[in-house]
Amino acid sequence: MMVEKQLVTIIIQTTSLCNLRCGYCYCQSGRDSSDYITFENFRKCLSKIDDFFDPHYEICVLFHGGEPLLLEANFYKEAFRFLRGLRHKYHTGVQTNLTLLNDNFIQLFQENNCRIGISLDGDDSFHDFYRKYNDGKGSYEKVNKKIKTLQGAGVKYGIVSVINDYNIQSPIEFYSFFKEHTHTPFRLSPMFMVKNDRICAVNPEALGNFLTLLYDFWIAEKQPPKITLFKDVINNFIGRNYSQVCTFHTDCSQVFFTLDWDGNVYPCCHFVGNQAFCYGNLLESPFSEMVNSSVRFMVSQRTSLTEKLCQGCEFYKMCFSGCMANTINGIYNKDYFCHAYKILFEHIKKSLDEFLKQGVTNIA
Ligand code: SF4
Ligand code: SF4
Ligand code: SF4
Repeated sequence: MMVEKQLVTIIIQTTSLCNLRCGYCYCQSGRDSSDYITFENFRKCLSKIDDFFDPHYEICVLFHGGEPLLLEANFYKEAFRFLRGLRHKYHTGVQTNLTLLNDNFIQLFQENNCRIGISLDGDDSFHDFYRKYNDGKGSYEKVNKKIKTLQGAGVKYGIVSVINDYNIQSPIEFYSFFKEHTHTPFRLSPMFMVKNDRICAVNPEALGNFLTLLYDFWIAEKQPPKITLFKDVINNFIGRNYSQVCTFHTDCSQVFFTLDWDGNVYPCCHFVGNQAFCYGNLLESPFSEMVNSSVRFMVSQRTSLTEKLCQGCEFYKMCFSGCMANTINGIYNKDYFCHAYKILFEHIKKSLDEFLKQGVTNIA
């Protein structure tokens, strides 16, 4: 009998440092210049992770930051070579602001089949509103130039766009940006941050309305852009039950781990630096100790505890209370964007019912 492969994702916070100063950044931008992962520490930590998982797992290593391209290309060269020699099958990806991309990186990522995720919030008028250099200059021009270089070299990439209080006001203009990148997978990430007890987030109702408008534009297309959120929701409605968006995983703590530059392990990069969420240190202890730690147990309790809060919600099996990083007053609460999801789910449900009435079955 074939045993189905399971995927576990290890997010590597390669550094806390970044060459940009985006207005909504959740990374610790105080920035100590020694906050980099070394290849030696990467090797030690990944060896332990590789030893821990059963052979039926495949492992995705996602290089994140801060800005991961602040590390030298040689780090990645050694990292890719090292991963190839381990027991498991590894997939790799890098999530970058792209401004520091050069030919060495392009060649390395291509040769090693490493997927590139670009942070881009729309065209220049949207992107430059938050995503700036230290001197206040927007980064769009540089990012766009590097995207053209990637396109010229035939390299595939994905885009992550933060939906913020600025671009949310212009859904029509924002959507036309997707159409310039029809072959690119898009992930939408609503802005959410709690800083000194102040919530910095888009309004859930406005987000719900924004997403339904985008959905209407999207579903009307002959060749719709690849917006993963909409595909996931449709797939869940029609019973395919596969979610690429971590927000709607049953329990993300089962399959996502984040490793910082000092070997500390957390459930997700949103918790890096928060000791209450640290599973332990992988340079000092085996990975089994992190997985079986009391902190991980505390995190994994969320699904069963929030289920009660979501009782009666017809969309529970699609949303599972949403993302624990988007919560106020602790992770045992529903996602702050609950209302937005309900608006979107309700809207997509109606749209699918309409298609079925018309006898259309091959939707998106
Ligand atoms: S590119 Fe990413 S890490 Fe850098 S400042 Fe912007 S949000 Fe923060
Ligand atoms: S906490 Fe939220 S962002 Fe982090 S892995 Fe879980 S669902 Fe994704
Ligand atoms: S939509 Fe809201 S109530 Fe329903 S499962 Fe998600 S967070 Fe819970």
